[in-house]
Amino acid sequence: MKESRAFCPRCGDTVPERSESDANDESAADPLRPGSEVELCDACYFDDFDFVDAPDRIDVRVCAQCGAVYRGNRWVDVGAEDYTDIAIEEVSEALAVHVDVEDVAWQVEPEQIDPNTIRMHCYFTGVVRGTPVEEQVMVPVRMARQTCTRCGRISGDYYASIVQIRAEDRTPTSEETDRAKEIANQIVAEMEATGDRNAFVTEVSEVDDGLNIKISTNKIGKKISNKMVEEFGGTVNDAETLVTEDSDGNEVYRVTFAVRLPPYPPGDVIDLADDDEGPVLVRSARGNLKGVRLTTGERYEASYEEGDSPDARKLGEADDAVDATVVTVEDDNAVQVLDPESYRAKTIARPDYFDPNAETVPVLKSRAGLHILPDETDA
Ligand SMILES: [Zn+2]
Ligand SMILES: [Zn+2]
Repeated sequence: MKESRAFCPRCGDTVPERSESDANDESAADPLRPGSEVELCDACYFDDFDFVDAPDRIDVRVCAQCGAVYRGNRWVDVGAEDYTDIAIEEVSEALAVHVDVEDVAWQVEPEQIDPNTIRMHCYFTGVVRGTPVEEQVMVPVRMARQTCTRCGRISGDYYASIVQIRAEDRTPTSEETDRAKEIANQIVAEMEATGDRNAFVTEVSEVDDGLNIKISTNKIGKKISNKMVEEFGGTVNDAETLVTEDSDGNEVYRVTFAVRLPPYPPGDVIDLADDDEGPVLVRSARGNLKGVRLTTGERYEASYEEGDSPDARKLGEADDAVDATVVTVEDDNAVQVLDPESYRAKTIARPDYFDPNAETVPVLKSRAGLHILPDETDA
């Protein structure tokens, strides 16, 4: 065994030798021998020992609307249920226990003093240098009810961009506008989930020719409009408008994203101007218009030049279809059905999706005559 003696650098008492690791943990610099580390005796150690370091009081700025708490220099969502939760959270953040203490346990008893003040009685236990230690501290937590930046903006109808949902030569369908609202809320929810407090929908309003969505950032506006075009086709144009100057004299722009949905959405039945091969039921308007011929069941696709708006007129919608009784199948190209209005037997074109065993088929009566539609309930 190595023969060495150590002395407390504070009072000069001899101290028992400790292992290397202990010495590293619990030592103080020896003023007489700079660079070397010598331990304090237990008496001197506990003279200085401060188990819990607690502030005299904690002031919390909390948003009265959403419960966000101001920390550092920004508002953060703490997910607290009530003010007591927030107080507990803030106290745990503010209290520090001495690093040497092992097996630290603590509990807290909140005592509500008035609506904005909670006294936090905290009890700590632990072990240091083999000695059990305990301490009680009381920290008053004062709540200052304020309005966070986000809630202030929401109540002030703040918005940085508008998404306008419009359609070419028609008004957007309720399916399209409902989906736009859904996409907006979804994108905002996703951004909120990542802790982005600046994402919100300010206002959704139905207008004569479509839907306007006001949102808090340009980024969300761009996301919503791109997603709409991805799902429904069409185009988006953005335009900046100078709205004001901020307090630093910087110009503040607002961006309008104008989404123009294609003229013939899926479900429309159209008559193409350039051919006489019969009406087309639109299946997709993303990129170029695609659909199915109601006379033959053949696939139709508009040329690249025509894109999503070939020269055509609208005859009706698949939703307008009614059931007609099948009288007889004449041959590969013709079938006789009862006209749903006149109840007279009529011979009409037989598309390849026609089921010869069907007793009734969905038909659309339009300016172009009577046509059998694909039975979407089977699809
Ligand atoms: Zn000592
Ligand atoms: Zn708030």
